[in-house]
Amino acid sequence: MKPTENKVKRSLPIRAKLVCYFLTFAAVLLSILWIFQGLLFDDVYRFIKSAQLENDAKSIAAHIDSEDIIDYVLEVQKENDVSVGIYRTGSQVFYEVYSSRDKNTYTSAFVYHEVYGYNKMAKENGGKITCSNTDLENWLFSQTGSAPPVNVDRPPESLVSVRIVESGGNEYTVLLKARFTPVGSTVETLRIMLLVITGLFITIAVAMAVYAAHTLSKPIRSINKSAKELAKQNYEVTFDGKGSRETEELSSTLNYAAQELSKVDSLRRELVSNISHDLRTPLTMIGGYAEVMRDIPGENTPENLQIIVDETEHLSSLVTDILSLSKLESGNVSLEKTEFSLTESVRSIFTRYSKLVKNEELNINFEAHCDVRVYADELKLSQVIYNLINNAINYSENPKEVLVRQTVHGNKVLLEIMDKGKGIPQEELKDIWDRYYRAKEEHKIATVGTGLGLSIVKNILLMHGARFGVKSQEGVGSNFWFEIECLESE
Ligand code: ADP
Repeated sequence: MKPTENKVKRSLPIRAKLVCYFLTFAAVLLSILWIFQGLLFDDVYRFIKSAQLENDAKSIAAHIDSEDIIDYVLEVQKENDVSVGIYRTGSQVFYEVYSSRDKNTYTSAFVYHEVYGYNKMAKENGGKITCSNTDLENWLFSQTGSAPPVNVDRPPESLVSVRIVESGGNEYTVLLKARFTPVGSTVETLRIMLLVITGLFITIAVAMAVYAAHTLSKPIRSINKSAKELAKQNYEVTFDGKGSRETEELSSTLNYAAQELSKVDSLRRELVSNISHDLRTPLTMIGGYAEVMRDIPGENTPENLQIIVDETEHLSSLVTDILSLSKLESGNVSLEKTEFSLTESVRSIFTRYSKLVKNEELNINFEAHCDVRVYADELKLSQVIYNLINNAINYSENPKEVLVRQTVHGNKVLLEIMDKGKGIPQEELKDIWDRYYRAKEEHKIATVGTGLGLSIVKNILLMHGARFGVKSQEGVGSNFWFEIECLESE
C-alpha cells in the first residue's frame, strides 16, 4: 500500500498539470503573435505589398498590346489603390502613354527623373525591379557620386514595381506605385492591444485549466474513493465515473470487478463453511463411536468399528476430492493423453463393482456394441466414469438398477450412465455441476458423497473439450452423459 501512496504523492495533481499545459500553450501562442505583430510586422507588410505590386505590374505589362489597356489599368488602379504610369522609353525622350494624376493638383504620379531612374534600375536588374522611392534616391545619388542630403523633408515612402516590355518594336516601362502607409503608430496600437490580449488570454487559460481539471478529476476522485472502500472489502460499493467515456468505462469495469469479487468472497465463505461442516460430521461420528467403545463395555463391536472405518474412508475421500478439484481448478493440471480403449476402461471399472454386486441389491450392466478407442487421459476419464456410476448407485433405492451404454455416432462416442433412482428436480439440474452443490435433502443428511464429484467430472470433461449433460426426471431416474471424439471402433 505505502509505496503506491508515496508514488502518487510525488507526481503532480491533474489540476496543476493542466494549468501548466494551458500556460505553456498560451505562452507559445502569445510569443508567436508577439514576434509576428511586433517585430516582423513591417517586413511582412512590405513583403505582401511588394508581391501584390509585382503581380499587378506583370499583368499590366502582359496587356500592353491590348486595345482596352487603359480600362484595364483603371480597374487595377481602383481595385488596389495604386498609381500607374506607362511610358514609351525606347529613345532619349520618354513619352507618357498613361499616368495616374493627383486628384487635387492633377500632376502626374511620376516625374521625369523617377521614370528615368526606375527605368535604368530595372534594366540593370534584368528588366524588372520592385523597390522603394528611397532606393531610387540612393541610386540617383550614386550616379552623381554625391551623398543624399540629411535632415530634409522627405516625400512619404512608397513602393514601386517596374517592368520593361517590348511591343511593336517599342520599349515600354510600366510603373506601379503604392504608398507605404506608415505602420509605426499602428504597430504601437497593436502592441498595447496585444498586452491586454496577453493578460486576458492568461487569465482565461488559467480559469479554463482549473475548470477542466475540476471536471476531469471529479470522476477520478469519486472512483478512487469507491476503490478505497472496495479495498476494505465493502463489495456493496458502486463506481460512478460520469464525465468522460474513459472514466465511465473504467467505472463499469470496476463495478463488474466488485461484483465478481463479491461472488468469489461469498463462494469462499460458503466453501469454508461447507468444508468445515463436512469434516466435522465424520469426525464427530468417529470421536463419538470411539468414546462409546472405550467407555461402555460390550460396545467394542465389529459394527461400531465398521462405522469408524467408513467415516475415515469418507473423510479421506473428501480430502482427496478437495485436493483434486483445487488442482483441476488452478489450471496446473495437464492431461496425459494416450490412445486406449474406452470400452475396456469401463469394463475394468465394472470388475471393481463385482464385489459390491454380491453384497447389495445392485443390478449394474454395461451395453456396448463395439470396442471404441479414444485419445484422452485414461486416468481422468476413468475418474469421470467412476464418479458417475457411484452417483447412480448412491442416489438409487434398493433394488438399484444402473445401466452404462456406449454408442458410436460418426466420429463421436457417447457414454450414458443411467439409473432408475429418485432423479433430480428440474430447477436443480443447472446447479448440480457446481462444487459443493447437493440436492437440498442430501445436504441435510450429509452421508453420501462430498458434493465435489460432479464438479470434478465437469472440469475433466471441459479439459477434454467433451460435450456433456444430464437428463433427469424426479421419481423416474437420471441419465448422465458425455460425448468425446473417438479414433476407431471395432
Ligand atoms: P455428491 O458427492 O454429493 O454426490 P456430486 O457433485 O457428485 O456430489 O453431486 C451433486 C448432487 O447432484 C448430489 O448431491 C445429488 O443431489 C445430485 N446427483 C448427482 N448424481 C445424481 C443421480 N444419479 N441421481 C440423483 N441425484 C444425483
